[in-house]
Amino acid sequence: MSKVLDSALVWFRRDLRLHDNAALFHALKAARQVHCVFVFDRDILDALPRRDRRVVFIHQSLQALGQALVLAGGSLRVVYGQARQEVVRLAAQLDVQAVFANHDDEPQALARDAAVQQRLAAKDIAWHSSKDHVVFERSEVLTQSGTPYNVFTPYKNAWLKKLDSFYLRPYPVATYLDALAPGFAENAAIPSLASMGFEDMDLATLGLEGGEAKAQALLWDFLERIDDYKRTRNFPAVKGPSYLSVHLRFGTVSIRQLAKLAFDRAQVGSEGAEVWLSELIWRDFYHQVMHHYPHVVGSSFKSGYDRIQWEQGPQAEVLFQAWCEGRTGYPLVDAAMAQINQTGYMHNRLRMVAASFLVKDLGIDWRWGERYFAEKLNDFDLAANNGGWQWVSSSGCDAQPYFRIFNPIVQSEKFDPQGKFIRRYLPQLSGLPDKDIYAPWLAKPIALAVAGVNLGVNYPRPVVQHEEARLRTLGRYAAAGQKTVV
Ligand code: FAD
Repeated sequence: MSKVLDSALVWFRRDLRLHDNAALFHALKAARQVHCVFVFDRDILDALPRRDRRVVFIHQSLQALGQALVLAGGSLRVVYGQARQEVVRLAAQLDVQAVFANHDDEPQALARDAAVQQRLAAKDIAWHSSKDHVVFERSEVLTQSGTPYNVFTPYKNAWLKKLDSFYLRPYPVATYLDALAPGFAENAAIPSLASMGFEDMDLATLGLEGGEAKAQALLWDFLERIDDYKRTRNFPAVKGPSYLSVHLRFGTVSIRQLAKLAFDRAQVGSEGAEVWLSELIWRDFYHQVMHHYPHVVGSSFKSGYDRIQWEQGPQAEVLFQAWCEGRTGYPLVDAAMAQINQTGYMHNRLRMVAASFLVKDLGIDWRWGERYFAEKLNDFDLAANNGGWQWVSSSGCDAQPYFRIFNPIVQSEKFDPQGKFIRRYLPQLSGLPDKDIYAPWLAKPIALAVAGVNLGVNYPRPVVQHEEARLRTLGRYAAAGQKTVV
């Protein structure tokens, strides 16, 4: 194809990789000179805590991306400022004819992109954006009557039916790299974390490292285990899942690559790969839910659930704080909260258990928990986090029924059968026998004494009784007319 543009700018956002990157590919194909930029956007950064693993992860990923671009004959300019202004300013300064980016469908990102597009248009610079973050987006998978799906299984079936090799084909970026504009004369350096007011952190000790190569290493490690995924994925003490979520979030790995590997493996009979592919489809599902039903950001998918009277006031604040800090007295919940607080990751089974405990044992509004996860999760993704919380609180589409309430003790017995995960994160309980570790307050005083557990001193007593809390929750949902649907 002949080049139609003299020069273009690629704006990287949640796609921090060189390979199989839709926007980069389209720009390289269309323009003779392609410049690359990432903006540390103050509209996002200013609200973050000064110690934030995600900012460090992005910083590392940009170093890797910058090096890859330099090796390929280009460079990456990294700017600290307001993206709305910086992208337009740079595009004008470089005198490009178009800006290329990949879709970001979060409401704030859409508003930002609309503003950028408008300002670019005023300068006669075109805006091109592409799907890159999911396999199918927006209205690509609809029911036969043209409406969005709000139940997962039929969505998944339609998703699989629509899938063919076209959708999983990688963008052959490498073929077009000669269009990369050579390095910027001045200031191609990445602003330091300190200069932006952030602390550096040692992420490697958490098994968390930015950049494409690190994502590939995790992926190849997971491919050794993928066939076992169905069997292992629910046990937090076992290395069952892929741990790729943070890379998917920041685009240091391509969803097409993952979906293709899973699909091909499932085709030859791997049940593990089939289940894992389903998880990737859940990801697409929640993204299209947010697109079609933007009211889910902030309110229940099923509006009737917004009538629920959640606990409020100082006592609710105390209980919420105990949950955040892993002091509920329920070891599996507390170990889960220790995991998120210490590492920024939480195993999927535990996300469900901890979230359910907050909503259905403590009676606290799911939005409080959603906010806390948003602050702490390395892989925080608005659509998936919202979908997960609304699933647990039963207010979402295709959610857990309101009367299904996880029993945190039974969940521990089933999914942490030897208490290995609990012992890892709550070492003060490690001396308890397996049978006592799920509910220490039920242990005999002698067992507690031998294990050095002093309830109320080095481990809390339970903040609520599960059975009573369960009944309160059923009443709470009933009072709100829980059967109301959208
Ligand atoms: P794997 O088991 O290896 O799964 C592979 C990938 O599939 C994940 O990386 C993720 O991209 C996707 N995926 C898996 N499960 C889900 C799911 N239920 N919904 C959507 N996508 C899924 N996931 C996020 O990426 N960001 C979030 O902010 C987030 N918040 C959640 C909040 C709650 C309350 C719950 C119940 C789930 C949440 N999830 C979220 C989904 C899921 O817990 C994580 O994706 C998963 O634990 C990440 O670990 P992994 O990469 O090892 O997963």
